[in-house]
Amino acid sequence: MLSSPVLLGICAGAGALAAPGVASMLFGAKGVESGEPRTEALWTSEMPSTAPAPRLEGEHKVDLAIIGGGCTGLSCAYYAKKLRPDWSVAVLESNRLGSGASSRNSGAVYARYWGLDNEEMPRRGLERLVRFMEEEEIECDFRPSPTLELYASRRSARKAEASPEAGAKWVPTEELREGALTDHYAGAAELPGYYTVHPAKLVAGHVKAARRVEVELYENSPVMQVKRGNPAELVTPGGSVRADHVVLATNAYTPRLGFLKTAMMPVHQYTFATRKLSGAEISGYGLDRWPLRFERTVLPVTNFLTPSGRLCIRIVLGYASFNSCVWRDIGGARDLAKRMFEQRYPWIADVALEQGWHGVTGHTLRVREITGPVMGENIHAAVGFNGLGIMPGHNTAYLSACRITGHPDEDTRYMLGRRVQIPIPGEYYRSMLLKPAMKALTPV
Ligand SMILES: Cc1cc2nc3c(=O)[nH]c(=O)nc-3n(C[C@H](O)[C@H](O)[C@H](O)COP(=O)(O)OP(=O)(O)OC[C@H]3O[C@@H](n4cnc5c(N)ncnc54)[C@H](O)[C@@H]3O)c2cc1C
Repeated sequence: MLSSPVLLGICAGAGALAAPGVASMLFGAKGVESGEPRTEALWTSEMPSTAPAPRLEGEHKVDLAIIGGGCTGLSCAYYAKKLRPDWSVAVLESNRLGSGASSRNSGAVYARYWGLDNEEMPRRGLERLVRFMEEEEIECDFRPSPTLELYASRRSARKAEASPEAGAKWVPTEELREGALTDHYAGAAELPGYYTVHPAKLVAGHVKAARRVEVELYENSPVMQVKRGNPAELVTPGGSVRADHVVLATNAYTPRLGFLKTAMMPVHQYTFATRKLSGAEISGYGLDRWPLRFERTVLPVTNFLTPSGRLCIRIVLGYASFNSCVWRDIGGARDLAKRMFEQRYPWIADVALEQGWHGVTGHTLRVREITGPVMGENIHAAVGFNGLGIMPGHNTAYLSACRITGHPDEDTRYMLGRRVQIPIPGEYYRSMLLKPAMKALTPV
């Protein structure tokens, strides 16, 4: 999911007036959301569940503790253990391992970091991810994918056609109408260099790899408090961990843990999937020709075909007060996604929509992730991937592990240059301005 310049402009304007903390002064600060039920995404329901990990009980001491058991946290633990096999490394996950955005995303993989012109570092990051899948024998339907970037307005289409991205091939309206059975768009570009993956299989592979290198994994163990110090202390309902080094791999949930409250915020998403389509339907609707489609709008929309043959739409819902990662109106989200789906592909009205799921991503206003030390020298972050976290999350996790273990890698220098963030306006302004703005910008 990409933040847009318009959205950034709105936020930056409000930032000038920001009074962070006004709302929390009025209504009280809100802490970690634990015990909230998380329904499964389609991806997770398509595969056997991974063996459960224990809940943290009692007092522990480790060299490195990672908060958050998604792909970022698990890969950071994996690489730290590979670089320092003598270290004890633990991952603490508040829910089931991989139950956050890592198993709820659209599965698009690309050699790119938002806002980074350098092409070499992202390319090395993609190679590292591929090597990881190969070495750990992770079967996750990883494959190159023909991809469209779609333009809804004639103006944006004309602009894109006039200055195409390197290697892109222009697809005019008539060809889209015929090939993809849609007249919603004024044109599209076929983009090279994209891959797709089955997210739940990938995250299960991360769990398997972490177990193989003997990372200690704990589930249903929300860290409610991080006590600064050397070692730092992480407090969960069942026990505590003292750790020389800590990594926050808590994605959108980070502000509720009390970190980076003015640097990042959660943005909610909803994805709706059709029933399994037959081979004839897939080719009839042009889905084999273009299985992955990004819409170039202010709040972007993604369409993708899953390896099991379901077409999905992924939309942005917006911001929920006090950095909440829970979206209360799931019925409304489903109705909106259905409407947007049918608007783009009228034939969808005759195809059952079977499964929808909610997800949340950590966003920053500069559309850059946050990495490196955030409190003292021993508490690091690897968060805020702005909806592009499969490759950058994995690679940044590796680079974080390098920094913490003292392993030299030239790419760690990129992490430092990306730490400066634009402050996000306080809760009052987010609710007053951002929420309605995001609603108004929804491309229905
Ligand atoms: C709908 C959607 C579509 C997306 N599409 C794409 C895409 O196509 N391509 C792409 O590259 N990226 C995509 N992304 C983004 C990508 O999924 C994320 O950037 C990536 O999964 C982040 O991984 P993570 O491990 O950092 O976060 P998560 O998977 O969210 O993991 C964070 C974990 O931390 C845990 N946690 C939080 N707080 C605590 C605490 N206090 N104590 C213990 N544990 C805690 C959470 O429970 C969670 O499991 C998408 C995201 C969404 C939601």
